[in-house]
Amino acid sequence: MPGEPQGDCLFCKIVEGHIPATIIRETDTTVAFRDINPQAPTHVLVIPKAHYETAAVLAAAAPELAADVLRETQAVADDEKLESYRTVFNTGSGAGQTVWHAHAHVIGGRGLHWPPG
Ligand code: 5GP
Repeated sequence: MPGEPQGDCLFCKIVEGHIPATIIRETDTTVAFRDINPQAPTHVLVIPKAHYETAAVLAAAAPELAADVLRETQAVADDEKLESYRTVFNTGSGAGQTVWHAHAHVIGGRGLHWPPG
């Protein structure tokens, strides 16, 4: 069921504290933690605590929660003192999604090229 914890989901396990992560922000509905394989000086993942497979599913099923995630991306950027940063939602394996729990990458602290690879 969308929104329900999934026993085999890595990010649900981070939310539940069963897998360690460097959590830098937490709200009632979201968690922000450092990516284990950072692609830039700042590389933070912002996730809803509730499980939705993709950003699109999240936005359709729980738009307020999607807005919470977006607000937190800016809060992370503020905390990290980033004037410029990139927010990425990889959706689908062809775009590089490897964890099927919606998450925003907040990437910054270096020059970022466009278009992305
Ligand atoms: P995706 O490829 O699905 O867009 O992003 C998943 C991200 O999760 C990747 O950037 C990957 O490095 C990160 N990741 C995978 N496993 C872990 C983990 O156990 N802990 C943390 N903090 N990040 C992880």
